[in-house]
Amino acid sequence: MEKYFNQLLDDIAYATNNISWPFAEKELQLWDWIPDEEENQTAPIRNLQDWTGIQQSMLPPETMLNDEQIHLLLEALNKMLNEYNCCFVLQTAVSERIQYSCIRENFNQDVKVKRWHMGFFETCKPGTEHGKCALGEHCQCAFYAELFKDMIDEDLTPEEERRRELEIEVQHIKRKYGDDWMKYYPYHLDAAYDDEYGNPYDYGFGDEDDDDEDDWWRK
Ligand SMILES: [Zn+2]
Repeated sequence: MEKYFNQLLDDIAYATNNISWPFAEKELQLWDWIPDEEENQTAPIRNLQDWTGIQQSMLPPETMLNDEQIHLLLEALNKMLNEYNCCFVLQTAVSERIQYSCIRENFNQDVKVKRWHMGFFETCKPGTEHGKCALGEHCQCAFYAELFKDMIDEDLTPEEERRRELEIEVQHIKRKYGDDWMKYYPYHLDAAYDDEYGNPYDYGFGDEDDDDEDDWWRK
């Protein structure tokens, strides 16, 4: 097992360092930039197994691995997935063993090859009932469904809407920036940071008709 395990880590490292992109990096021009929505629709699609050369069948079931091996394998897989811009990100704390099982179970998946925006590893197979995937009670789809469940057809007061916006923004930056998320905290959405004049963080986006900023270069 030890020998097989080390070979597997080598194979993953090889895949990490030898990515074949379906577009030439040199041709990447700033004016080719497209919004995320558009990229989601137009990005080339690849099967992760074919693309990385790592087959799901190469990944041992978690029951065959000790904690140290799980840790090393998870680290290697995460590094690889980041290089392929297919980031494995969870919103909730989940043990390494379950994280590994989740990657293993979903490894045979088609991914969008994105070059402008962050791509994510799908943690649930499409059509899987919430909570019945490898993550079980930690199912991320269930987490999001819960978060967004009340969003449709609601009449929100401005205060409620702001609170909802804060909630969504916080989830978004946690997903995007991981442990650094507090650096990007949207103070302007948080009523706790309002003072008697409104919100001091809401510069530039408020209703104030303040165009000083725009013509500083004329002065
Ligand atoms: Zn799930």
